[in-house]
Amino acid sequence: MSLPFLDLRAGYLELKPEIDDAVSRVFDSGQYILGAEVQAFEHEWAKFCDARFSVGVANGLDALELALMALGVGPGDEVLVPSNTYIATWLAVSNVGAIPVPVEPEEDSYNIDVNLIEEAITRRTTAIVPVHLYGQPADLDPILEIAKRHKLWVVEDAAQAHGARYRGRRIGGHSHVVAWSFYPGKNLGAFGDAGAITTDSEVIADRIRVLRNYGSRVKYLNESQGVNSRMDPIQAAALRVKLKYLDEWNARRAKIADRYLDLSKKLAQAIEVQSELEGRLSNRAASPSLQLRFPEVLSGTDPVWHLFVVRSRGRDSLVGRLAERNIETLIHYPTPPNRQNAYKELAVASQPIAELLSSEVFSLPIGPQMKLSDSERVFRALAQGVKADSKLVE
Ligand SMILES: *Cc1c(COP(=O)(O)O)cnc(C)c1O
Repeated sequence: MSLPFLDLRAGYLELKPEIDDAVSRVFDSGQYILGAEVQAFEHEWAKFCDARFSVGVANGLDALELALMALGVGPGDEVLVPSNTYIATWLAVSNVGAIPVPVEPEEDSYNIDVNLIEEAITRRTTAIVPVHLYGQPADLDPILEIAKRHKLWVVEDAAQAHGARYRGRRIGGHSHVVAWSFYPGKNLGAFGDAGAITTDSEVIADRIRVLRNYGSRVKYLNESQGVNSRMDPIQAAALRVKLKYLDEWNARRAKIADRYLDLSKKLAQAIEVQSELEGRLSNRAASPSLQLRFPEVLSGTDPVWHLFVVRSRGRDSLVGRLAERNIETLIHYPTPPNRQNAYKELAVASQPIAELLSSEVFSLPIGPQMKLSDSERVFRALAQGVKADSKLVE
């Protein structure tokens, strides 16, 4: 019996009749580019996010790029990005011709360390792209305050934060533009690629609406050099169905996360006893696997647990032990962007915290279709792994 990291098919099967209806409605409509389905989704998504406008695009990377393009970010500009993120955040910046300048994370939430932002700002800085990594909102208030003082744009990468709240308000309208991905594995996931932006600015929404469609508002009249990045109406129709269940599915993720956190407290007690025993028995430092760190939630935020990321110096061994018990884990992310070949030429300074995290973090299975009993199984395996690694007999 194996436990997958995330069972996408189970998510489809739970809503199959409704999804199938919605998709065949698009096939029946004869409208296969943009149209009523995309417009309806944009309206519903903006409303869900407490934002005034939403524009549907082809994927999350395009959403970020179009946001930067609409704000006029381009060659010669520096854009602050987290060193600890999925590479898309950096690619959006370099794809518009600007330079990604990394800022290290703080080690509780793994999000951008707001205390390091100001020292990274230069005369060429024009924007900050905070990421709400793993579904945990970044600390937006200080970011927005710094941005205002230095006259910088803020574009949020919210690809992992559908439904999350910062100081009571949904992510989606706090800054100039918020970029979303509906990649299948996200909390709101399509059945292929899809993305969107949300914003409270009518001007920015309008620019992105034109840019995503060849820079054209009226067919064969091109007012700007745009791209083809339109949301697929088939995906829009399916997303409209799934949006109705997003809060409920996020609540199920939260139940799994709460159970993990409860179990982690018990494990922490056991580890404490074992560490002490081990120290007494061998006079050696405690085994790496004994040092396990669980997620902490920033006060004033409601995360949506896109990922449940734990940290250990004995990561590789623990991942192996879970795999032996057919429990799938993933690493988010094994190589930080600054260490990727893609950014070899940029010659970015080393990012010690992001690099250390990439060697220590791993993500436990979590998802709306996962059973609570499965989280217990994961923890039993984790506890046994820790015990085996520390070579202790009870
Ligand atoms: C998924 C993701 C993206 C990119 O989304 P795509 O739809 O795959 O292009 C961007 N940033 C982060 C943090 C992501 O997790």
